[in-house]
Amino acid sequence: MKVLIIGSGGREHALAWKLARSPLLTRLYAAPGNPGIAQEATCIDLPVKDHASVVTFCRHEEIDLVVVGPEAPLVAGLADDLRAAGVAVFGPGAAAARLEGSKGFTKDLCTRCDIPTAGYHRFADLDSARAYLKKRGAPIVVKADGLAAGKGVTVAATVGEGLAALEACFAGTPGASAAEVLIEDYLDGEEASFFCLCDGARAVPLASAQDHKRVGEGETGANTGGMGAYSPAPVMSPAMVERVMDEIVRPTLAGMAEIGAPFSGVLYAGLMIGERGPQLIEYNVRFGDPETQVLMMRLDEDLLPLLDAAAHGTLEERSLRWRDEPALTVVLAAKGYPGAYEKGTPIRDVDAAEAMDDVVVFHAGTATGTQDLEANGGRVLSVTALGRTVAQAQARAYEAVDRIDWPEGFCRRDIGWRAIEHEGS
Ligand code: ATP
Repeated sequence: MKVLIIGSGGREHALAWKLARSPLLTRLYAAPGNPGIAQEATCIDLPVKDHASVVTFCRHEEIDLVVVGPEAPLVAGLADDLRAAGVAVFGPGAAAARLEGSKGFTKDLCTRCDIPTAGYHRFADLDSARAYLKKRGAPIVVKADGLAAGKGVTVAATVGEGLAALEACFAGTPGASAAEVLIEDYLDGEEASFFCLCDGARAVPLASAQDHKRVGEGETGANTGGMGAYSPAPVMSPAMVERVMDEIVRPTLAGMAEIGAPFSGVLYAGLMIGERGPQLIEYNVRFGDPETQVLMMRLDEDLLPLLDAAAHGTLEERSLRWRDEPALTVVLAAKGYPGAYEKGTPIRDVDAAEAMDDVVVFHAGTATGTQDLEANGGRVLSVTALGRTVAQAQARAYEAVDRIDWPEGFCRRDIGWRAIEHEGS
């Protein structure tokens, strides 16, 4: 099979790495890809926003399956345009991508389908939002609707903080994210990410993971795209997975099919696991980054037929095979990230890290310089290791990190701490 991957991050490198190991694969392309992906695929310079040019490429190269990595092209309807042109694609169309693109849409679906989630109200004007928030009290959560790259959410410990967040939302730049605000009840518990493959009607559980969003150790400092992750999440026991499938995932698929927007692709549920059981915080409609890196290291079967079946509506509901060992990934980022950072600094000795067994260094923001690999973004490498325990996977990932020579990079040194605490208890 000939496959085209859309995207250029660590997530897409992990997908390319896994797909390249499929005996069914004959040719792998990536647009635009990165130097790590280039070890597995032919990287091409396609203007992805111009859907017609992607269709033309797929027709010309007789692509059997397009795998869309990031959310933006999905929300923009790339999967719809490919499907309309007869090209098979793994990823939802724009109507189903609203599960990620609009928090209000997802919350209304939860109400309609009785999916456990935090109580909420939607507001289009500041005055009524303020009045509601004051009445409800703190802690409380304020969310701008629309894609806000993780920056549209305030978990307010006080009413004052909540009111300030509301004002910032309504005074914000014009556009979807400022037009509507959601005020949600605060949920207590432990967060976990859970991934499923879906074909519009059926869902197959992938695995769980936990990520570390803050830049600083001990979950401090600014929010980032993710500084590390591990899989599985200890809170996601087999019984909890069953509950999530029954109470959250299957009702979602049924609800989406009912409104004529069947969901196919990967459904990524952000969950809060608390005393009342699993609650949905949010959906994403694509693989997580860096969670995909740990998922792909653990998946012990061929990914390509699974993605192909999801794209064609022929998924078989069954349990997939996973390596028993947990996987952990540490993100190496450019100093200054998520603020201003330098590009073009040389990175050496990645191969020394990769010489370790069951260690893979996935590339995110890298470029090929004149002599060396260079940093070309905020999150640059995702150093991923398997181990007998999370503690061992962590030790092996940091050993690999320490073999890489990149003085301008940094990482958190405590990735996996929560799971390691579970192991110790
Ligand atoms: P991202 O995609 O970066 O996770 P987002 O903008 O889509 O962010 P959410 O996932 O809805 O936003 O919320 C971001 C974070 O805020 C969550 O991961 C969680 O830690 C916290 N959060 C959101 N909703 C609640 C809630 N109701 N109760 C407690 N914490 C919450």
